[in-house]
Amino acid sequence: MPDDYEFSPQEIEQAWNRAGGHCECCGKELVWDRRRSNPGRGSWEAHHGSRYSPVILCTGGSENCHLNCGHNGDFRNPGVTPQFELSLRESVP
Ligand SMILES: [Zn+2]
Ligand SMILES: [Zn+2]
Ligand SMILES: [Zn+2]
Repeated sequence: MPDDYEFSPQEIEQAWNRAGGHCECCGKELVWDRRRSNPGRGSWEAHHGSRYSPVILCTGGSENCHLNCGHNGDFRNPGVTPQFELSLRESVP
């Protein structure tokens, strides 16, 4: 899947529902309306990481999982599959 593929609103909403409105990495509670251009408490991003479904990651606060976990601390880095997702996958038999 190309890096610049844009997820459809439906795919993003499904991922959001699957995550229960929380950051999939740190578990912080997020706000639906705070995606992308609407920064503030509870902001988040649907991260690619060359995956077929988005990962819901927080963008604000000290965690900033989209930056730190999704892009290895630098947005110039291509999207990576966050480490917590990899460890989840490895734990599946
Ligand atoms: Zn987070
Ligand atoms: Zn990303
Ligand atoms: Zn994180």
